[in-house]
Amino acid sequence: MSTKPFGVAVVGYGGMGGWHTETIARIPEITLLGIHDIKPAREDAAREKDIHVYPSLEAVLADPVVELITIATPNDIHLPIALAAMNAGKNVICEKPVALNSGELSQMTACAEKNGVLFMVHQNRRWDKDFLIAKKFYDEGTLGPVFNMESRVHGSRGIPGDWRNKKAHGGGMVLDWGVHLIDQMMLMMGDRKLESLYATLSNVTNEEVDDGFRTIFHFEGGLIFLIEVGTSNFINLPRWYIQGENGSAQITDWDLNGEIVMVSDWEKRDAVPVVTEAGLTKTMAPRTEETIQKYPLPAVESEIRDFYRNAMAVVRDGAEPKVKNTEVMKVMRVMEAIFASAEKGQSVRLNADCTLK
Ligand code: NAD
Repeated sequence: MSTKPFGVAVVGYGGMGGWHTETIARIPEITLLGIHDIKPAREDAAREKDIHVYPSLEAVLADPVVELITIATPNDIHLPIALAAMNAGKNVICEKPVALNSGELSQMTACAEKNGVLFMVHQNRRWDKDFLIAKKFYDEGTLGPVFNMESRVHGSRGIPGDWRNKKAHGGGMVLDWGVHLIDQMMLMMGDRKLESLYATLSNVTNEEVDDGFRTIFHFEGGLIFLIEVGTSNFINLPRWYIQGENGSAQITDWDLNGEIVMVSDWEKRDAVPVVTEAGLTKTMAPRTEETIQKYPLPAVESEIRDFYRNAMAVVRDGAEPKVKNTEVMKVMRVMEAIFASAEKGQSVRLNADCTLK
């Protein structure tokens, strides 16, 4: 095993590039060698933090100490930078969405294979605790078999007015937040087959690209999964809402507020009817307190630095990558199916590899 420091350079030093440099700085066995950005203001920002600035991409590629390049540029230029880096023999971590479409991803994975280097996509939201708690419910059957899951992220500030609202740059919310939520869903569902989906896109604040979307996914065995991203939501719905046969759970927000409500006595269903001015319902009346139990959300552990540590272990020791390109390919195809469904105004059926039937 090599003991020399694992040298990383970050290309694209904007919001996320800054996050990468800060994360790398918290990993003693990895060395941040510098950044490259085409904007002088971002170069100055790096220098202010005593980060070395490479004058060009070629300079990064020519530096023999650079073992891995992290790409954190706008989405449409992931492909040319990734190909140049891998053809120069560098390992690559690429921001999400990996590319504009599945065809571009095929070019990237073929290039990685040809050059015998690592190409791994930064699907960092796999490490989010809200997701890990939701996954725990699904995996462990705490609520009984799960039959409905709803995963939402809501904001009220529209799409940022930079490249994110331009189609040519790979803008829009399906490619932005959608890719995270779909990746989480596909990882959680594992081998359970995705049979079909129905999608609608929203264009409330933005005409050129979607500023939100809603998709209903039908999985094998009747499980329904809803994903919704909104940027015009002045009241947020819960981050997660999960129904199992014996209870429901809500993870309200990223602060992990929420609760579990489980049935403790199925047989005792008597309830005081709810009477409104126009009628009466017993079916929808709340359960009496003695027939349910409430629990707090479980605690989970997560360490995002494991992403970089894994990349280093793949390169140095041949470890399994934690984010596999076959998984990323399925997510790209699911996003393509979302656009196809929204355009047709119809549900679309999928093959096992997530291509359209
Ligand atoms: P940003 O606009 O803040 O930063 C992009 C930077 O890339 C800018 O500084 C720009 O000057 C630079 N750039 C553009 N073209 C370049 C080139 N050819 N060479 C070098 N630098 C170049 O955008 P951002 O929010 O940092 O997003 C960057 C990437 O990170 C996107 O792919 C985005 O989807 C992704 N992202 C991921 C997460 C996550 O949680 N994984 C969060 C935010 C953004």
